[in-house]
Amino acid sequence: MLYRLSKAGFRACLVGGGVRDLLLGIQPKDFDVATDATPEEVRKLFKNSRIIGRRFRLVHIRFGRDDIIEVATFRGQADDSPRTELDDAGRILRDNTFGDIEEDAIRRDFTANALYYDIRDYAVLDYVGGMDAIEQRELRLIGDPETRYQEDPVRMLRAVRFAAKLDFTIETRSADAIYEYGHLLAVIPPARMFDEIIKLFHSGTALRVYELLRHYKLLKYVVPELDEWLQDEPTEAMLDFVDQALVNTDQRVDTGQPVSPGFIFAALLWPVVHAQANARQPDRQKMIPALLEVGETVMRRQVRHVSIPRRFSQMAREIWAAQPRFHRTQGKQPQRLAAFPVFRAAYDFMCIQAMVGLVPHQLASWWEEYQREHPATEPEAPRKRPRRRRRRRDAG
Ligand code: ATP
Ligand code: MG
Repeated sequence: MLYRLSKAGFRACLVGGGVRDLLLGIQPKDFDVATDATPEEVRKLFKNSRIIGRRFRLVHIRFGRDDIIEVATFRGQADDSPRTELDDAGRILRDNTFGDIEEDAIRRDFTANALYYDIRDYAVLDYVGGMDAIEQRELRLIGDPETRYQEDPVRMLRAVRFAAKLDFTIETRSADAIYEYGHLLAVIPPARMFDEIIKLFHSGTALRVYELLRHYKLLKYVVPELDEWLQDEPTEAMLDFVDQALVNTDQRVDTGQPVSPGFIFAALLWPVVHAQANARQPDRQKMIPALLEVGETVMRRQVRHVSIPRRFSQMAREIWAAQPRFHRTQGKQPQRLAAFPVFRAAYDFMCIQAMVGLVPHQLASWWEEYQREHPATEPEAPRKRPRRRRRRRDAG
């Protein structure tokens, strides 16, 4: 497809994460293309394409059923162009000023993300010292960190994501400014926060991401109530629980198993929900309504910052409310629980609780045994595949 642009007389380069990952010897997740063709010109060359976005206009070209390549036109200097809109805080609302490749490079976020692979001569083009950053394994914002975070505070979350995923350090200047400008994340629309947070926790390095978010005092803008709980004499077992849930998530990503945002938010908010539900109702027999109520309230507060789609917040609440049921191993109760749509996730959640000593070990063994003896209670196998795919796209 690069060649089709090239043959039509346009310049076409691979750019961004794809080039960076190739240089690092990592399998790229996807490829982005930058070109001097306008979105309309690209659109005309590929009939399986459409123009998307308002903040940044891009062309999506579809290949096969699921593969999409994103093509962006070189962007120019943002300042005082009528096609760039800033808000009062200096945040870029819209940026559709076109420019040349060098201008395009300096508007990107980190130097390691601003390398171009030109298919005309198979050369790597480096306008901002990106090669050096890759060799030093450092994330360096292009330009003045303060301005760049003000333009787009999400770059702070991206810094954390790349630092974790690539095992890079964040260069001092870029790191220091995070402490100063972290609060700007409060103005990011909750829908964009959700997209970014999913990328953070689906990166396969969720535990490291969590550590870095705490280190850079950003957790407050991601899961505010978890952050408050952490300041407030957290218990060892519950601290371990969150860590272990993220380890579990990373292992699932590693082995290609699906990870639901519902499970991740259930885990991140469990310390809060668990503490509040126990304070309200210490009797485990009557715990379920308390969990449902507290879960509802905690979720309502969480979605003010991060708009978690309803199916995921619902799943988190069901996982929480299912927990006391694992203790009911008499009569028909296990059978009923095993038929819950959320059973598998709730069971994994309970096993993590058992690992860190929040519920007895024997409970996890009992349920493992139970499932061995009642394989029919597993969710019906044939439905699994399509469900999985849909879920992954939701998360995307
Ligand atoms: P990943 O491996 O997660 O896809 P990526 O670096 O490709 O990482 P994308 O979000 O796909 O990240 O963005 C592609 C490229 O667009 C980045 O490498 C960067 O050059 C540029 N970019 C993306 N988001 C921003 C931003 N908020 N500010 C400036 N440049 C950005
Ligand atoms: Mg990418």
